Amino acid sequence: MRLILLGPPGAGKGTQAKILVDAFGIPQLSTGDILRNAIADQTTLGLEAKAIMDRGDLVSDSVVNGIVSERLDAEDCKPGFILDGFPRTIAQAEALDRMMAEKGIKLDAVIELKADADELVRRVIQRAKDSNRPDDNPDVIRKRLGVYESSTAPLVDYYGQQGLVKAVDGMMPVEEVTSAIRSALGS
Ligand code: AMP
Repeated sequence: MRLILLGPPGAGKGTQAKILVDAFGIPQLSTGDILRNAIADQTTLGLEAKAIMDRGDLVSDSVVNGIVSERLDAEDCKPGFILDGFPRTIAQAEALDRMMAEKGIKLDAVIELKADADELVRRVIQRAKDSNRPDDNPDVIRKRLGVYESSTAPLVDYYGQQGLVKAVDGMMPVEEVTSAIRSALGS
């Protein structure tokens, strides 16, 4: 199973990815988590990415494409993977298509988690209380929602044209969202 979870910040991609990891026995590939680990480890990548992430902008396509390409080659991704937070631009989606073609693999589905903007702001502010993420604050979350609308939302059409998109209401309780994803996947 090779999946993409697509949706605005706070829509529940990370939460659902973690549940699906257990259900399907495949890893979650979160570019946000990889970048946050790089920041914590103070690597060159982390030092470059921190200011960009703190203000809610996107890290460059070439940096994240490189991270994902390397990660997809790892042994644990052979049975499949759940991409969470990648791709986020058309250029990233095109790069992913090329990477997968080179590796001789195909996507099974793109789950679009749909969510209401006011509820997203409320959720992310709530998450900020426990997460300690510098980009979970009202100003930055509004910025990230704007970036989602302009750069990432066009991916719904991109993957729609490939017949891969399955839309799920991300505003339902967590377990119901999981069931809706599983029934969309026929699993
Ligand atoms: P996330 O944890 O997915 O919400 O990502 C947190 C932040 O990491 C984003 O606001 C971006 O600054 C950066 N980031 C994560 N994934 C990507 C990506 N695919 N492309 C560019 N920037 C990303």
